[in-house]
Amino acid sequence: MKTGQINVQTENIFPIIKKFLYSDHEIFLRELVSNAVDASQKVKVLSKTGELKGEIGDLKVEILLDNETKTLTIRDRGVGMTADEIDKYINQIAFSGAEEFVKKYEGKDGAEQIIGHFGLGFYSAFMVAEKVQIKTLSHSENAKAVQWESNGSPEYTITDIDKNERGTDIVLFINEESKEFLEKNRIQGILDKYCKFLPIPVIFGTKTDYIDDPKGEKDKDGHVKRISVENPNQINNVSPAWTKAPVDLNDEDYKSFYRELYPMTFDNPLFHIHLNVDYPFNLTGILYFPKIKENVEIQKNKINLYSNQVFITDSVEEIVPEFLTLLHGVIDSPDIPLNVSRSYLQSDANVKKISTHITKKVADKLSEMFKKDREDFQNKWDDLKIFVEYGSLTDEKFAEKAKNFTLLKSTDDTYHTFEEYKEKIKVLQTDKSNKVVVLYTHDKEAHFGPIKSAKDRGYDVLVINGPLAPHWISKLEQNDQDVTFVRVDSNTLDKLIEKSDEIPSKLSKKEEEKLQKLIEEVVNKDKFKVEFQSMNENESPILITQQEFIRRMMEQQKMGGGGFYGAFPEMYNMIVNSNHPKISSILAIKDNEEQKNKLKLLSDIAMLSQNLLKGEALNQFIERSIELV
Ligand code: ADP
Ligand code: MG
Repeated sequence: MKTGQINVQTENIFPIIKKFLYSDHEIFLRELVSNAVDASQKVKVLSKTGELKGEIGDLKVEILLDNETKTLTIRDRGVGMTADEIDKYINQIAFSGAEEFVKKYEGKDGAEQIIGHFGLGFYSAFMVAEKVQIKTLSHSENAKAVQWESNGSPEYTITDIDKNERGTDIVLFINEESKEFLEKNRIQGILDKYCKFLPIPVIFGTKTDYIDDPKGEKDKDGHVKRISVENPNQINNVSPAWTKAPVDLNDEDYKSFYRELYPMTFDNPLFHIHLNVDYPFNLTGILYFPKIKENVEIQKNKINLYSNQVFITDSVEEIVPEFLTLLHGVIDSPDIPLNVSRSYLQSDANVKKISTHITKKVADKLSEMFKKDREDFQNKWDDLKIFVEYGSLTDEKFAEKAKNFTLLKSTDDTYHTFEEYKEKIKVLQTDKSNKVVVLYTHDKEAHFGPIKSAKDRGYDVLVINGPLAPHWISKLEQNDQDVTFVRVDSNTLDKLIEKSDEIPSKLSKKEEEKLQKLIEEVVNKDKFKVEFQSMNENESPILITQQEFIRRMMEQQKMGGGGFYGAFPEMYNMIVNSNHPKISSILAIKDNEEQKNKLKLLSDIAMLSQNLLKGEALNQFIERSIELV
């Protein structure tokens, strides 16, 4: 037996590890399992080059939980280590920068990168274990099996042991505070999270009789007896779809991989993009377009980031642009460093390139789909819309490409690109100042009346809805100064698209003033601004509109929330059609009260059609109407 000191400059690295990694203890298992996988992969490589003589054997990584001895063992049939290698790779930790590092990151989040930066993957075991053993037999000829043991102080011991199988057991004696890692479900959960797609089979077992026989009993060859695990349970799929070539996969394969990734999701994705880049960085992956629901927030964080099939994180905001976080799927890149902080990722040049590349791929895919089968693309548009709008609003490069396939949907369910649409409506919908006026609604049912009037005149009305609608409209207006958007209910048709030839009014100024006074006596004039317009006599006698800019203001207030809310009062225009026969007939009535009653009825009907008649006012209206029968 040999004892020694782990070569660290600070007197004890373990308090540092514990302190900095406190929030994320579970990653010890990812570190140890990926070391085991690395060691197993090395066996394959060495066997190919002829450096490893003899059988590769059944490569697998076993995770063995023993509640009696309170240990968790990570066992592999990898290359193993000689005593010299243990000394080199485990004892001599390059940790000279530790003190400086500690000063720099003290109290900051992101200190997790300590592990990645200083190669402390193995030492993360001490976050959860009071004692750690490495029992290992190297693949090299005539190697002797050795056991390294340390209890978390810089001292360690190395002993010769009996071990006749190539590979390494890392035995963790779980400490008092970390008892959770002796629970089967907890370990299963961590393995499911990080190890689901590792390239070497990962087996989890809980039977107690897996380690060297505690009584020290020997088998007939004189080796300490070991019994294999009962009910082995393989965690991973060693060759997930993204590692395969697209030509080897069909649609069903992609769908079933989607279900493998998200067992709790029942919708099928709309389509996928298989990423495969090897220059100037390595990146593979499959991105899925989900059906995006109204509530965009809960859809996020579904892309999983892997590094060589090891799960890293599902919060990829720093790696892909915000709008791409709506996608689902997997990105795997060995060029994305493990265990680094968010701020580090944001400034990493590779990460930036990856992000640009993915954005481009996504835009290209959509563009290709649009060109190849426009009808199919249109069928998918309602589901793609939020994504494309979100992307165009937040990413200029994407917006530039997306122009060619972004669609506008009309109330008659036809789809046009912006340019096509402008061409379609420009003859009839250009106003006297030469602006093309786009009419839109957010709700076909609610605006049934105004939409019908617009259509009767040969105008077209778009459906623009969803959470991004106000921003999207501003964006479209900014892109083209010759176009303006107005909601179809925001004014009378004549005012929405003002043409030069005005219809003369049948009422004189004096007559209008007289009627105006009467109406203002029966409606709330702080809320309804009464005005007269000479419209076609087929239009309604009184109608209510809300100016486009006031409505946008109100919408912004609602979205912005906070102290702004309520700063602008709710205001509508009550427009009286001075050419309507009912209006002239009311003017002719002698009795003042009678006039007011009729005007009240007409204004109530106008409010009712805009869903503005509520509560007591609505009740009174109903009662008065019944009396009229
Ligand atoms: P890294 O994996 O980044 O090199 P680690 O601290 O995780 O850092 O591991 C340090 C080194 O210890 C590894 O590079 C490897 O040489 C050796 N090692 C760790 N675990 C094993 C194992 N299960 N089998 C063989 N070698 C191992
Ligand atoms: Mg490692």
